[in-house]
Amino acid sequence: MGVGITQKITAMIDEILAFNKAFVANKGYEKYITNKYPDKKIAILSCMDTRLTELLPAALGLRNGDVKMIKNAGGVISHPFGSVIRSLLVAIYELGVKEVMVIAHSDCGACHMNHEEMIERMKARGVKQETIDMIRFCGVDFASWLDGFEDTEKSVRGTVQAILSHPLIPHDIMVSGFIIHSVTGELTRVSCEPVVQDASAE
Ligand SMILES: [Zn+2]
Repeated sequence: MGVGITQKITAMIDEILAFNKAFVANKGYEKYITNKYPDKKIAILSCMDTRLTELLPAALGLRNGDVKMIKNAGGVISHPFGSVIRSLLVAIYELGVKEVMVIAHSDCGACHMNHEEMIERMKARGVKQETIDMIRFCGVDFASWLDGFEDTEKSVRGTVQAILSHPLIPHDIMVSGFIIHSVTGELTRVSCEPVVQDASAE
């Protein structure tokens, strides 16, 4: 944030830019061409974990254009009128989505996350205690904003319920919860109260 620091593009981004030039020149995009409407009418809320970047779509048989993918740390809704619900509203009302899958994963980095520890790391990187105090004074609850979840299943259930009971989500939207294994990609259904019992579920 300092004055006089020029924007510096790292070697990693240079590499990405070089790849991108070649990708476009070689028409690497042709097999990805689709439109903005999801073919499967499904939105997926999941975690930003890098292990899932390719694994999740591959394990679910999803291709470009199939689903709306919403990702953040933990695959959670941290605010009822925040960006996740906003994205779901756009997906439902503008893009024809009819079902939502909440997909958490094993060994999630957001699990056991602790706001006090993160605040200590912020302070070690130059954020002042008075800044933390001021933000707290303005009504930000660091615990509810930054703490992770202890129980992944419980977190998925809570997220499913938060979507189902949201006043702006229409009643005909189906919402279901899952946990994907971060190595094998195996999907396990999380039973959530109003979900119809599936006899074949494991
Ligand atoms: Zn995660």
